[in-house]
Amino acid sequence: MNTKRRKAVIIGGGVAGPVAAMALQRAGIEATIYEAYSQRTTDVGSYLTVATNGLDALCALDAHRPVQAAGFPTSHIVLLSGSGKRLGKVSTGGGLPDGSTTITIKRSHLHRALHEQALNRGIRFEFGKRLIAAETTTKVGVIARFEDGSQASGDLLIGCDGVHSVTRRLIDPTAPAGRYVGLANFGGYTRDFTLPVEPGVWQMIFGKRAFFGYVGDLNSGVVWFANVPRGEISKAERQSTTDQQWQKQLIELFAEDRGPAADLIAAGELELAAGNTYDLPSVPKWHNGSLVIIGDAAHAPSPTSGQGASLAMEDAVILAQCLRDFPDHAQAFGAYERLRRQRVERIVAEAARQSNNKIPGFLRDLMMPLIFKFFVTEKALSWVHDHHIDWNARLVPAGSAVNSRRLAAA
Ligand SMILES: Cc1cc2nc3c(=O)[nH]c(=O)nc-3n(C[C@H](O)[C@H](O)[C@H](O)COP(=O)(O)OP(=O)(O)OC[C@H]3O[C@@H](n4cnc5c(N)ncnc54)[C@H](O)[C@@H]3O)c2cc1C
Repeated sequence: MNTKRRKAVIIGGGVAGPVAAMALQRAGIEATIYEAYSQRTTDVGSYLTVATNGLDALCALDAHRPVQAAGFPTSHIVLLSGSGKRLGKVSTGGGLPDGSTTITIKRSHLHRALHEQALNRGIRFEFGKRLIAAETTTKVGVIARFEDGSQASGDLLIGCDGVHSVTRRLIDPTAPAGRYVGLANFGGYTRDFTLPVEPGVWQMIFGKRAFFGYVGDLNSGVVWFANVPRGEISKAERQSTTDQQWQKQLIELFAEDRGPAADLIAAGELELAAGNTYDLPSVPKWHNGSLVIIGDAAHAPSPTSGQGASLAMEDAVILAQCLRDFPDHAQAFGAYERLRRQRVERIVAEAARQSNNKIPGFLRDLMMPLIFKFFVTEKALSWVHDHHIDWNARLVPAGSAVNSRRLAAA
């Protein structure tokens, strides 16, 4: 094991960045986070789920409680057709040993909960630092260069810079870009709305023209989102369309469906308007020299999976374990990739299939009840939600050669 105190430059302070910094600290590696945005957190943005496997990764760092406290439990999803027919009910995970289940949380609250914990543990953030280049030198390791002309150095650089990652291109200039999955994303919140369904259970409707999800929170409000099948939205269209105009379009799209979609949109506020949805199925190179990517930068699943943030958390903890247990970066990055690639790419592929199911069609409506009866069950999804990280388990027993069988089985 490497006993020299190493320094990591982390690019991106979204989800993967702060979790990686906290995990590296546990592994004895000092990390500073460089974030492109100029301010810590704002209240903008809609909601996302952190699944039990993501909470499990945070548990390994004793970082799960503030995140859970900032969200609310959402243990199940009920799936419905546009005509109101119930297609199935699926669990969002079996739960952690203490009984915690998947939560739904506002993105800005997740960021705040992670940032505050990292700051309390003495981790440094620098805002307004947009990475534009990096170079490896034998003397200092790696130098990161930022748009404002400043630079930072460390022994390694971890790209946590999301689906449009610059680090990914620095590792491999031919790396693929994010792929548009054919859905525009809208998110909103409606206050003081009485629902005829239990809070904490997501209701998701395969509508005739678009897909809609909603869940009651603990404050008599309703969190909702809409996925609209259409071409990519241009900057010009987004700039020239007001929230009221988007809401009007959405109300028309859901007018023929049963359920409260149109009423929720009419009475609510848009928190995310017309986001293009991208995924990233397979990135050939995850690391090169002292540079490595994790989270969406390496493998973004479509949001349909509800897994992107959780996988980013898993990556962060496992990469830190590898850096703790392997003698050099090359071996640690290789081990991290062997432990992660198969799982994350399988989830990205499943999410792409699920995204396609959101696009209306006669065959889809015919097949849906069968799919939910036989394939989308708690048992079938347990490999996603029940993933567990044992922080204390050594990936390489002291004094032994690299144990590749153990790595393959982990
Ligand atoms: C509409 C929507 C809904 C979603 N719903 C869910 C859900 O329910 N559950 C779920 O698990 N996932 C969901 N996701 C996916 C989830 O948000 C991502 O998978 C997760 O945020 C990935 O974390 P990350 O840290 O890798 O990237 P990000 O969270 O994207 O963070 C990247 C950070 O890097 C910064 N950055 C970018 N470029 C640079 C640069 N050059 N220099 C410095 N900093 C930079 C960015 O500003 C950002 O702060 C959703 C995504 C979308 C778009």
